Amino acid sequence: MENMFCYQCEQTANGTGCAVSGVCGKKPDAANEQDALTCELIALATAMKQKGVDRAQAVDLIVDGLFAAVTNVSFDKTQIAALTSEAKAQKEKLGGIQVLKAEELFHGDENVTSLRSTLLFGLRGMAAYAHHARVLGKRDPEVDAWFIKGMAALSGEHTVDEWLGLLMEFGGVNLKCMALLDGANTGAYGNPAPVQVPLKIEKGPFIVVTGHDLRDLKMLLEQTDGKGVNIYTHSEMLPAHAYPELKKHAQLKGNFGTAWQNQQKEFSNLPAPILFTTNCLMPPTPAYADRVYTTSVVAFPETNHIEADANGHKDFTALIDHAIKLGGFSEDKHLTGINGGANVVTGFGRQAVLDNAPAIIDAVKAGAIKRFFLVGGCDGAKSGRNYYTEFVKQTPKDTVVLTLACGKFRFNDLDIGKIGPFPRILDMGQCNDAYGAIQVATALAGAFGCGVNDLPLTLVLSWYEQKAVCILLTLLSLGIRNIYIGPSLPAFFSNTVLNVLVEKFELHPITTPEQDLSKILGV
Ligand code: SF4
Ligand code: SF4
Repeated sequence: MENMFCYQCEQTANGTGCAVSGVCGKKPDAANEQDALTCELIALATAMKQKGVDRAQAVDLIVDGLFAAVTNVSFDKTQIAALTSEAKAQKEKLGGIQVLKAEELFHGDENVTSLRSTLLFGLRGMAAYAHHARVLGKRDPEVDAWFIKGMAALSGEHTVDEWLGLLMEFGGVNLKCMALLDGANTGAYGNPAPVQVPLKIEKGPFIVVTGHDLRDLKMLLEQTDGKGVNIYTHSEMLPAHAYPELKKHAQLKGNFGTAWQNQQKEFSNLPAPILFTTNCLMPPTPAYADRVYTTSVVAFPETNHIEADANGHKDFTALIDHAIKLGGFSEDKHLTGINGGANVVTGFGRQAVLDNAPAIIDAVKAGAIKRFFLVGGCDGAKSGRNYYTEFVKQTPKDTVVLTLACGKFRFNDLDIGKIGPFPRILDMGQCNDAYGAIQVATALAGAFGCGVNDLPLTLVLSWYEQKAVCILLTLLSLGIRNIYIGPSLPAFFSNTVLNVLVEKFELHPITTPEQDLSKILGV
């Protein structure tokens, strides 16, 4: 019996689709409401395209509606239904139109459904990045226009080649969206600089902040200045320590915990509240549900939610008071990463690496650096993800591992040595900082007078949710070949679509670290 259907993430049930209830904890009522919302947004985009209307308010709704359907963002049917009603109302103002029914979204011709899903999930990922840029006052008319074009295209009839063309065009636009967010973050908070981040929690009241939204963190830092409440990052918020305008707040002390899938274990006995600025939110257990604060489109029924006022300001008083009431630990708590390390290093963002480009190029020319690996992407709960830890451990000593996103918590506390002044693991930041990695690869290719595919660089990606989908499409649109991807392939790729991607782009499903490394290194 099918209560719902969702196959957008890597942990989907049986590797085919969640049909009874979501493995992530999403209930059928929320899943079905997300499908209804998606169809209303497609209809709204189609109506806008047909009428030649370009309304920022409608694009914002499309962006938020897509973001709310990303894995582990909203589990709250009521919140999703409010977005559906708003989409319907805006669509009615444009004359009303119904283009795709919810039950048709993920059913029908296998290849059409696969290609449509790939574009939809890519758009959901890009919406998250566009949302973060918007809260910092940045938008790009080309990106906004593509939300309308892409959503309207989802209900159209296209040949496989036309779908592939749309996917590649989308990949190019997503690069612009990531560039927009990079500019928004660095414009507001400065260029990240390498920094060592302790994993120790100091005694006294504290708040843990997770997700990807630096603006939320900044507002919380401003509101905790001088209050005796320390702030610790969690998961994708770790790179915040490298931004000068965030780092200057003395109460931003360190990082707590690892990646999203460990929340229930890590948060259950914490004498502190947790702020979720974005995904990845796991359904909170009763042990800590009352200490969870969500904001923006992140929501879980009956947990504390903090909304922005008309000016985008958020009042975190309740969260701060909660931290003071709980009091934190009575003694400093010395914690470690997964591999026993007491510190992690982050902040090798685009500019920090490019500033060191001459030294890096010299090291490559002198043979001190033989290869770069970008081992990046999401972490997840399924077994098999220790591939990435083992892969990094087995990389030769004359290679550099660039990393980004939350998959790095599998290995970022490892000490695998240095090459000259550079640690062999360079953390470039969050998943959206894939933009910075692309810039670095392009600059290195320019310096060596070759194409990116000719560089001694291999991408070894771990995917989990839809931001990984939009990044993959961007890499493919740039013509980057020979990407290794795991831990399993997306359920929404039909055999035909997968074969096209493998043949056209030489995508490699990961095997074992030994086998893949020997293939990459040609030994
Ligand atoms: S987001 Fe993933 S786990 Fe959740 S319902 Fe969809 S496919 Fe299943
Ligand atoms: S990198 Fe992916 S899996 Fe990890 S927290 Fe960000 S969105 Fe979630």
